[in-house]
Amino acid sequence: MIAATGAQFELTGEQRAIGALAAEVARREIAPFVAQWDRDHVFPRELYRKLTDAGIMGILVPEAYGGAGADYVSYALAIEELARVDAGTAVTVSVHTMICSAILRLGSDEQKARWLRELAAGDVIAGFALTESDAGSDAANIRAPANRTPDGYLLNGRKQWCTNGSYAGVIMAMFRTGGDGAKGVSAFLIDPATPGISVERVTEKLGIHTSNTCDLAFDDVAVALSSRLGEEGAGFGNAMRALTAGRIGIAAQAIGILAACLDESVAFAKERVAFGKPIGSFEGVSFKIAQMSTDLDAARMLTYRAAALADAGQPFAIAASKAKLFASTAARKHAAQALQIHGGYGYTTEFSAERHYRDAKITEIYEGTSEIQQLVIARSHLGRLD
Ligand SMILES: Cc1cc2nc3c(=O)[nH]c(=O)nc-3n(C[C@H](O)[C@H](O)[C@H](O)COP(=O)(O)OP(=O)(O)OC[C@H]3O[C@@H](n4cnc5c(N)ncnc54)[C@H](O)[C@@H]3O)c2cc1C
Repeated sequence: MIAATGAQFELTGEQRAIGALAAEVARREIAPFVAQWDRDHVFPRELYRKLTDAGIMGILVPEAYGGAGADYVSYALAIEELARVDAGTAVTVSVHTMICSAILRLGSDEQKARWLRELAAGDVIAGFALTESDAGSDAANIRAPANRTPDGYLLNGRKQWCTNGSYAGVIMAMFRTGGDGAKGVSAFLIDPATPGISVERVTEKLGIHTSNTCDLAFDDVAVALSSRLGEEGAGFGNAMRALTAGRIGIAAQAIGILAACLDESVAFAKERVAFGKPIGSFEGVSFKIAQMSTDLDAARMLTYRAAALADAGQPFAIAASKAKLFASTAARKHAAQALQIHGGYGYTTEFSAERHYRDAKITEIYEGTSEIQQLVIARSHLGRLD
């Protein structure tokens, strides 16, 4: 539990309370249903209204807009507790929160008034649309155009793998407004009900089945000038800043998966008997648990450090990349070990180990692959040599 980590990282009473509340909501509102939701690929829309009551949908939104006004450390703790029960729910909230923060940071007074209250109330869920079929890691190379009109912009093209897309009431989407490269990109806040936008495909995935992922098609979508988020041409930098903060959320998601793997491996290793002894008495099993526990602590320390830097208004991009890189690698590796500890049972849906194994992998891919995190970290030492 979080309490155990408090001895190693000074958490405030409020941060602990937020983590404990998220754990309680996850235990009550998600745990009894998650296996079925995972099997049926259910996006539990009603759940997000319940998470609102616990302050989770507006966790970083100031109280003036109806949010909880909490800090990034509390946010990381809440995402961890959600992911411990369901990684799909955790990423839904993480992406939603990333957009809330972007609107807070970049939005005009009108945009803040238009969106933040509804987002904090869970009445509107937010999505993020940057990736295209030919531009993922190389996001500065997106092509979908936003052409100026007398009243605003005309959007065209396709966006791929938009988390929350089918259920979102607002999407932060990046389009090309100028020439080539990063400087030609602008961000927009778009209501997906705008004529000309359609959900083109809902993606079937290895894991995180309770998270919605879809492709969006934009066909001559007219949006007002006031829907642009931030300056024209600043959209790439603003999207990258949003993702930097988002990486704290994905690191926390990985930590939650890892924590669940540890809890379930310990319980199973004590119960399961082979050769007349609990399997936890064999070094081959207990050392796996020892490594899992050590990596979990290390992932937490890196993630809470990145979150604390963000809270202190200090640069945190490199710390967030290190946290995501380490936590996601550990989650993927130890989810496989947790399944191994469960033996044949681990390969069946009777236990959650197989779900954690499927869910863990995505943390190494979205919001910057592990290779992209390594690029960011390496450049902090070497600069750009190319
Ligand atoms: C379930 C899911 C949800 C997602 N949600 C969203 C979302 O909400 N919004 C959104 O915009 N996108 C989303 N994405 C997209 C995701 O962010 C991208 O898939 C990811 O950034 C990688 O891009 P790519 O798939 O195009 O892979 P590529 O960029 O083509 O990379 C392929 C491989 O090459 C490696 N590689 C690429 N460039 C380099 C380099 N310079 N050095 C070393 N290795 C390199 C990569 O690390 C990777 O291993 C989602 C994806 C998935 C699967």
